[in-house]
Amino acid sequence: MSCIFCQIVNKKIFADIVYEDDNVLAFKDIEPQAPVHLLVIPKQHIESLDDMINIKNSIISDIFNVIYKLAKDYNLGSGFRVITNYGKDAGQTVNHLHFHLLGKKLFDNKF
Ligand code: 5GP
Ligand code: ZN
Repeated sequence: MSCIFCQIVNKKIFADIVYEDDNVLAFKDIEPQAPVHLLVIPKQHIESLDDMINIKNSIISDIFNVIYKLAKDYNLGSGFRVITNYGKDAGQTVNHLHFHLLGKKLFDNKF
């Protein structure tokens, strides 16, 4: 299995896991771009947004429920960003769908 995030899901490589349930995993990004920088992923290997629209289940709402819970747990009430990069122009480096949750930083750029 070559997907690094699948290896994290299967505990083959270490990650600092902050949330886990049957479908969703969240862990700290190894190269944080903000004081809080978490990655929230489906445990199922979904390549990217192309596959996501074909998945007939509630995984995206599950992920956003976890994001909401983590935003509260980490006291991000004054603001946070949720980002997903798609494709090489956006700088996507891992082909397993993931949402960055970034907080505790003043984002002065709009995008
Ligand atoms: P992308 O650039 O694809 O949107 O985001 C991939 C993210 O995964 C990057 O922010 C990168 O730092 C993070 N990442 C890559 N490999 C690992 C790893 O082995 N462990 C953890 N915790 N994060 C990783
Ligand atoms: Zn994967």
